[in-house]
Amino acid sequence: MGKLLEIDRLQIAFRTDQGDIISVDEASFDLASGETVAIVGESGCGKSVTSLSIIGLLGKSGYVRQGEIRFKGCALTKASSAELRRLRGNEISMIFQDSMTSLNPVIPIGEQIEEPIRLHLDLSRQQARAVAVDMLRKVGIARPEAISKQYPHALSGGMRQRVMIAIALVCKPKLLIADEPTTALDVTIQAQILQLMKQLQTNNGTSILLVTHDLGVVAEMADKVVVMYAGQVVETADVFTLFRAPKHPYTQGLMRSIPHLNRDSSKRMHAIPGTVPSLQHMPTGCRYHPRCSYAVGRCRQEQPTVQSVGGEHLVRCWLPSETENTWVPLAGHLSGGTL
Ligand code: SF4
Repeated sequence: MGKLLEIDRLQIAFRTDQGDIISVDEASFDLASGETVAIVGESGCGKSVTSLSIIGLLGKSGYVRQGEIRFKGCALTKASSAELRRLRGNEISMIFQDSMTSLNPVIPIGEQIEEPIRLHLDLSRQQARAVAVDMLRKVGIARPEAISKQYPHALSGGMRQRVMIAIALVCKPKLLIADEPTTALDVTIQAQILQLMKQLQTNNGTSILLVTHDLGVVAEMADKVVVMYAGQVVETADVFTLFRAPKHPYTQGLMRSIPHLNRDSSKRMHAIPGTVPSLQHMPTGCRYHPRCSYAVGRCRQEQPTVQSVGGEHLVRCWLPSETENTWVPLAGHLSGGTL
């Protein structure tokens, strides 16, 4: 599979009155055509900021300070606003978590789906309307003709999320960025939406960059997983390797925190000790060292480099061989959980 998206040593900063704050540092990973890559990590780890930077939506204060984002080999970091506008909604689309605030409350659903069609495809108003209604049908909305005339407030959360998917996929993008697409939904609707995304991905050959804190969604959807901690990518692997043999102590901690039905209920659930460091006060050396039970002197002084522990399994840790025998995967670990 060819590389569709390459994130290369990306550093993202935000300007504040107290100076620049580095939100994402030295992040690298890639995504092949037709592949689903999940970025996981706790709130504030930089996963959403990384995804927003791809379509140039960092706001007024955010900017790419170093590194590169390449889409089909072209540097998006050097693209003009007009070029980014041409890509957004056409070749690259995004689904946000909160459909209520992402949809325009005063424009009927159908017109909101027609907008990217009219912007990017050479179709008449009538043809665009027909495509929009057909797209509503494809995302599983009954009575699409009637629903296309409704306003967002008249729809349930699950239906609004389907509408968001319809808007995102109507121009058959090469890349869909989905930022916590099912977090606001109940479990049964969540399963339907994930199924729908998979089905549309298969039909259109779309690649998906999935941003989530839900390891269950990762297990369900992802081919490859990128784990972020405190603004850095700490581990990258295919989904089976990551769940069965995580090497970074942080990833191992996440896996141990997943609740299991066959867990001994008399024992306390595992929690990673300590808290995530603030962006203004990053620890020296390895950013995870204050919480890591393996930390040695070097971890406190030198930032670990990324190293391969086998093929494309990459870990940012000085001691991956020390940690490798301590993780015992439990039956059903691919069923996931939430961070
Ligand atoms: Fe732990 Fe050291 Fe590895 Fe950081 S580099 S994760 S502190 S062992």
